[in-house]
This record gives sequence, C-alpha cells and structure tokens, in this order.
Amino acid sequence: MSISIQNLTKVYGQQKALDNVSLEINKGEIVGLLGPNGAGKSTMMKIITCFIPPTEGVVKVCGEDIFDNPMGVRSKIGYLPEHNPLYLDMYVREFLQFIAGVHKLGKNSKERTEMMIEMTGLTKEVNKKIGALSKGYRQRVGIAQAMIHDPEVLILDEPTSGLDPNQLVEIRDLIKNAGKNKTVLLSTHIMQEVEAVCGRTIIINNGIVVADDDTKHLSAGQSLESLFRKITNNI
Ligand code: ADP
Ligand code: MG
Repeated sequence: MSISIQNLTKVYGQQKALDNVSLEINKGEIVGLLGPNGAGKSTMMKIITCFIPPTEGVVKVCGEDIFDNPMGVRSKIGYLPEHNPLYLDMYVREFLQFIAGVHKLGKNSKERTEMMIEMTGLTKEVNKKIGALSKGYRQRVGIAQAMIHDPEVLILDEPTSGLDPNQLVEIRDLIKNAGKNKTVLLSTHIMQEVEAVCGRTIIINNGIVVADDDTKHLSAGQSLESLFRKITNNI
C-alpha cells in the first residue's frame, strides 16, 4: 500500500475541510483527485506530505506514519504544490542541485540533476533563471524537483493549471511517463486529463469522498463531466 488514509478530518477554525475521509491507494496506481474549488483536495495533499497536521485520523505513506516518521514520509514523496513555489532568482540547474542537496543525495546529486533535466525536457533552458521561464517550463522544473530523489509516490496539485494547450499535452505526457513505475495522486479540473492519465478517479465534495472507482467504470455510459456536475451540484 502506498497511501493509506483512515478517518481523516481537518478542521480550520469553524470550517471542516475534510470530513472522515478513508481511502487506500496501491503501489503503481495513477489516481485523479477531482472536486470543485474548496472541496479539500489541497488540504488532503498537504496532510499526506506532512505540511499540515490533520485534526483527526491516521495517514501512512509506504507504511510510514505521518506523525511517527514525517522525515521517512517526506523521503518517499515527491510533491508539486498548487502554486509551485520556486526560487525565481536561481538558475534551473543551480535550483535542482540545491534540491538534491536538501534530499542529501551526496555524490548522486549531479547525476540525478542531469537525469531530471533531460527527462523533463529542460536541457535548452538549463542556464536560464527560473524567473525567465514560461509557465510550462516552470511546471517542468516543479516536476523535476519533485522527482529528483526518485520517490515512490508523486503528489501533484493541479500540475497543468494555467498552461496553454500545447504545454498541457506535454506536461500530461511527462506525468504519464513519470508515473510508469510510481504511485501518483494528482488533482485537476480537467476531465479529459483524468480520462487520459488516471486509471482511478476519486471525487471529493465538501470534504467528503463522493465517488471512487476505475475511471472507465465511473464514466461508463455518461461523460465524466456530467457525472461530476451531478454529484457535486447534488442534482
Ligand atoms: P481545494 O484544493 O479542493 O480547492 P482546499 O483544500 O484548498 O480545497 O480548501 C478546502 C477548504 O478549506 C476551503 O473552504 C478553504 O477555504 C479552506 N481552507 C483551506 N486552507 C485554509 C486555511 N489555512 N485556513 C482556513 N481555511 C482554509
Ligand atoms: Mg487546491
């Protein structure tokens, strides 16, 4: 089991962002997390990646508990946060080497950095400052930093939001490729993306899991979009 979530609840002040969520994600699955804005997607991802604590519940990543062994959990996860925070004044290669250092990759740092540059198609941009890159290339840097330590699990929070149609296809292909031997949980608002990339789809609404099935089963006989509208508008 790559990700195990039991009875997860998160309350911010008066607001319940996640309400008793339980789910398990197996090794090698590529799972799409859908839900309207404010459904709780980012909150779930931030808890899995140990950025914020849950109010209640048990979360394990590759068997490691987020409370008992947060460093162990982080070493198994690559995370692309929603707004992809990057150091805009750093050069692409310099930034990736810096992240390799954070992961204490030691003598492998150089090799992993070059491997990620090639894999994410950053070769031509490698001597530019991150601030000079287009949104699509910044996303590539975000994915490269998420994968540099070769984690078993990738958590990608809206990795294709704000991209133009060409960039969108490129990043989607990159995720598909990267996900071949990893477990991936990605959130998105694009239904075709889920249909193209994710074997399984989880829909959350108001902090509650309202659908969880093979993408093919979920959308059988109707478009994923109309199903999504039905269950998130309560009609
Ligand atoms: P999504 O990623 O699905 O759009 P979020 O997880 O970001 O949803 O948010 C879920 C709910 O929790 C929203 O109503 C949001 O306003 C609220 N929320 C998120 N972060 C905070 C925070 N730090 N403080 C208070 N409320 C928050
Ligand atoms: Mg979000």
